[in-house]
Amino acid sequence: MGQKLTLKNGAEVEVVPTSSELDACTGCGLEVHVPKAAPGQEYELPQPGELSLCLGCGTISIFQEDLKLRPATDAELEDILKRKGPRDQTGAAAFVQLERRRG
Ligand SMILES: [Zn+2]
Repeated sequence: MGQKLTLKNGAEVEVVPTSSELDACTGCGLEVHVPKAAPGQEYELPQPGELSLCLGCGTISIFQEDLKLRPATDAELEDILKRKGPRDQTGAAAFVQLERRRG
């Protein structure tokens, strides 16, 4: 049993009382959960364009308009690495992902 939420961009998503299972990791299929809000508070849903760093495999995915995940492009990964730096957890994940793609 879910509840419909309308996002700022007009997209509708369904959330469940304790967490919102938006989509699965593009790398390992682990479900993405959004932390539950305290009673009376808004759910903190990700915004389209935000990145998701999988806790299972470290894959970086990007939330689309409908909050489904898509793999980050090479350009996006390079941008993340540039902004965050290799010592940041997200930057390091971007670095690993780029290296993997380049073989
Ligand atoms: Zn994963």
